[in-house]
Amino acid sequence: MNGIYFDHAATTPTRPEVIDAMLPYYREKWGNPSSLHSSGREAAEGMEGAREQVAKLLRAYPEEIVFTGSGTEADNQALIGTTIAQEKKGDHIITSAIEHHAILHTAEFLEKRGLKVTYLPVDSYGQVDPEAVRAAITERTVLVSIMHANNEIGTLQPIEEIGALCKERGVLFHTDAVQTAGHVPIDVREMNIDLLSLSAHKLYGPKGVGALFVRKGVRIAPLIHGGGHERGRRSSTENVPGIVGLGEACRLAGKDMEWESEHNGALRNRLIERVLAKVPDAMLTGHPVERLPNNASFCVRYIEGESMLLNLDFEQIYASSGSACTSGSLEASHVLLAIGLPHDVAHGSLRLSVGRGNTVEEVDRFLEIFPAIVEKLRAMSPISAGRPASDFEGGADVHEHGREEGGE
Ligand code: PLP
Repeated sequence: MNGIYFDHAATTPTRPEVIDAMLPYYREKWGNPSSLHSSGREAAEGMEGAREQVAKLLRAYPEEIVFTGSGTEADNQALIGTTIAQEKKGDHIITSAIEHHAILHTAEFLEKRGLKVTYLPVDSYGQVDPEAVRAAITERTVLVSIMHANNEIGTLQPIEEIGALCKERGVLFHTDAVQTAGHVPIDVREMNIDLLSLSAHKLYGPKGVGALFVRKGVRIAPLIHGGGHERGRRSSTENVPGIVGLGEACRLAGKDMEWESEHNGALRNRLIERVLAKVPDAMLTGHPVERLPNNASFCVRYIEGESMLLNLDFEQIYASSGSACTSGSLEASHVLLAIGLPHDVAHGSLRLSVGRGNTVEEVDRFLEIFPAIVEKLRAMSPISAGRPASDFEGGADVHEHGREEGGE
């Protein structure tokens, strides 16, 4: 791809080493891992090797890893599978207002079938208060699901603390770690996690493959029924090359995490400091410190996120915005509304997510171009006319999650 790619939270390029690891499973080792002959066995060996690699990244046991078709599927499996398995115990789950739609829409699906769901609010940085989790747990609560880091604003949650209090109350704790697995250290036992979702394409692996960590002893009903693959937890002949790619991506991520986190953190900090210095009426969204090393997200007042994206795209700079364009109308991101931003501010969101291949030169090229784009758009914008270069006070007006589709 030509240009400057600042959209690693949407997806990452597949690492060449990952492709090299996958190719033999298309070319030579294409057996069915359930077959008893040696062709099947070599495919199964590849898959089991990958299970060990994924487990190692999370400090889990290999038999606790269930391969899925995506992060979305892992999230669905976690919520639907655990609530079915515990239907005699209770009918209440707790999540947050800023989860990915893979969680929110699944929770809504369950709600329509009679489950009770509490959507916890977050503070202006996007953090859930562990005490609010504690207060929301009832005798009927069977699961708490709070994401490890938010995909739009990059805020990290106090997962360990939330996990500890769930453990204390005997409630299962799931975390959507799609944005953090392979990017920040995870130890499922130290962090008191019972279930965790991840996705290969967010950590330089292939698309269409993910995994759910299910701690030993946790009961979970399958979503997909059939031949009893994955110890009866996810039937269907496995995507062996994809799984091998996920394993290799996890191995590489573990090996490179320290370097990558420093590299990304330095680029992120440069973006944040300089955008705030060069662009009037721009604000950082998300937590100033407790955030993903690769996420720099902003709201730029008086302009639309989409206009910024199109103008950046014209310069071959690829970024993302929190708003989703649905059937011609723009809806503000449920995450930005939940942190208390008014609609007009939320519409001007821009997410830059850097990765291992980005350079300081690319950041500086962006910083050269972006202020001029903002100035041009503001000159054209009817909403900027006559408005003072003001602050971002205005408070929360909506705390419910929105209904827009998409978003990574
Ligand atoms: N959860 C979060 C936080 C995400 O960012 C994404 C990405 O789109 C998903 C879940 C879904 O993952 P996948 O694209 O593998 O379905």
